[in-house]
Amino acid sequence: MTQLLYQTDSYLREFEATVVAVDAENGRVALDRTAFYPGGGGQPCDLGTLTFGGVAVAVSKVAKEGNLVWHYTSPLSLPGEGQGVRSTIDWDRRYALMRTHSALHILCGVVWRDYGALVTGGNMDPGAGRMDFEFETLRGELVGEIEAKCNQEIAAARDIRVRILPRQEAFQIPDLIRTKINLLPEGIREVRTVEIVGLDLQADGGTHVANTREVGRIHVTDYKSKGAINKRIYIEVG
Ligand SMILES: [Zn+2]
Repeated sequence: MTQLLYQTDSYLREFEATVVAVDAENGRVALDRTAFYPGGGGQPCDLGTLTFGGVAVAVSKVAKEGNLVWHYTSPLSLPGEGQGVRSTIDWDRRYALMRTHSALHILCGVVWRDYGALVTGGNMDPGAGRMDFEFETLRGELVGEIEAKCNQEIAAARDIRVRILPRQEAFQIPDLIRTKINLLPEGIREVRTVEIVGLDLQADGGTHVANTREVGRIHVTDYKSKGAINKRIYIEVG
């Protein structure tokens, strides 16, 4: 089982770990603990390096399967089971993803609070992302207004807090029920929540900045109709 260090400390960028499984065929190793985000919820996985025996190898992909997080390197340069590795995350990429992910939650919070529109999905790259909403009344004139409101939330310097709650406790929180927490599989006993204090609360597995001011600035770059009701909003952070 891999301990998921990124769930409680999104600022951890270097850590020591021990190899608990080797999959030579696929050129990947599982560690006992990791700060590498394995991807999910629209946030791509981290990249970085593993250093062992004096050699640093690139991590080209990270994926979670069951209780293990696999780090893909090269079939030719894998550490052995039980070996210690020093692990470093590509921090520029990860921090850009944290700022982008938090920016998308600001957008969700503003669009729900001021327009009553529910989010249905989203995706991101470092520095840019998109969200889909059930937002029938979205018009071009609203785009500038939404952007200004998002930047007000950045200027308000709201704290962003992560908690891990027992499932039953999470199911009592009305804001979480709105974001379709009830779709979580039965087997999940704990729910991780990300709260932008005073703006937004969601069940979420991603990595976020600690305060909205770290996002910098949100630019709404485009929007698209995906039908009468479904609309897609594109943003960049700068
Ligand atoms: Zn999210």
